Amino acid sequence: MPPSRRPRPHALSTLAVHAGEDAHDADSPVVTPLYQSVNFVQEVGQGEGLRYPRYGNTPNAEIVQKRLAALDKAEACVVTSSGMGATACALLALLRPGDHLLACRWIYGGTQRLLMEEFATLGIDVTLVDPMEPRGWRKRVRKETRAVFLESPVNPTCRVLDLRPVSYLTHEHGLALVVDSTFASPVNFRPLEHGADVVIHSTTKFLNGHHDVIGGAVLGTAPYIEEVRQKMIVWGQAPDPFACWMLERGLKTLDVRVRRQNENAMRIAHWCDNRKEVKAVHFPGLPDSPDHEVALAQMDGFGGMLGIELVGGGRAADRFIRKLRLIRHAPSLGGVDSLVSEPRHSSHSHLTLEERTRLGIPDGFLRLSIGIEDGDDLIADLDQALH
Ligand SMILES: *Cc1c(COP(=O)(O)O)cnc(C)c1O
Repeated sequence: MPPSRRPRPHALSTLAVHAGEDAHDADSPVVTPLYQSVNFVQEVGQGEGLRYPRYGNTPNAEIVQKRLAALDKAEACVVTSSGMGATACALLALLRPGDHLLACRWIYGGTQRLLMEEFATLGIDVTLVDPMEPRGWRKRVRKETRAVFLESPVNPTCRVLDLRPVSYLTHEHGLALVVDSTFASPVNFRPLEHGADVVIHSTTKFLNGHHDVIGGAVLGTAPYIEEVRQKMIVWGQAPDPFACWMLERGLKTLDVRVRRQNENAMRIAHWCDNRKEVKAVHFPGLPDSPDHEVALAQMDGFGGMLGIELVGGGRAADRFIRKLRLIRHAPSLGGVDSLVSEPRHSSHSHLTLEERTRLGIPDGFLRLSIGIEDGDDLIADLDQALH
């Protein structure tokens, strides 16, 4: 009997190029065609399987959903029109009026507004938890608690949260653990392998990676993703076919981009760490980072994001940004172009200095999103701006 020849499972870089694509028939296009059509001809006498962009089932949505599911090792995925759309639909599919959500205090500003302002009006109670408080999550579980939401690495401080203790708790109490993994990308971190039930991405960031698409994704079990899709349909959060097509194109280079970003960020973090103008460097790849051990255990790379605190506070930070030539001042992240942002004037402008300092974002804090440029060129730019 011939030995059975099972194809070996593909590695992440191969999946990023090929997962979910159609069979390689003669004459078939190598690149997925863009089906920029809102309507698809329907079979007579049948309502099932109707294709419509808002239903998340156009050909371009379906292929990119399969690809993202393969990258995060999830059963299913739904793509949305933004990262916020993904978070909103993911949580609306889990929570009903009267339910309680535990969320990490260290979360994206838009997510915090959604949870604290919008969910309150829907009768969903949210408690923010300081992840550093011993047993902080456990103490706040109630009988109405349904889910735990956190982000790792955290925007903008790049703190890495240990999923192990949180997932023990969620499994013990039958809660859903929802992780916003935007800052990591599946190259560096796959939360489902560490006890999470749901993964959220803003695909605007590393997954598309070229600063030219806004989108989001939710990943989890097939029945759950179907519920998220139903929320997406009625709340109107679906992406256009062109955004899906662009995202699929961006994903093909995900592995090489993110590895280069990891490498550049690591070099820059070490370089900044030795500069007298820099008071502190926040990067989980540095051996003296409070999260270095956790990051080593749960991540495959330390990421392309880092935080630096300049001596001289906010004025020094503004002066420094004005002098940068290559690295541009813009609020987004994760793409091939390096960017710098000052959270006190962007994501965290709604907080007082005291509140920001408590979150680890004092004046003088800058968030760097490191791209794929030459590392020496980036360091030369930082060097001339620090002088
Ligand atoms: C950007 C971001 C979001 C929101 O994504 P959009 O695509 O801008 O809606 C959510 N979470 C994190 C961690 C982000 O960085």
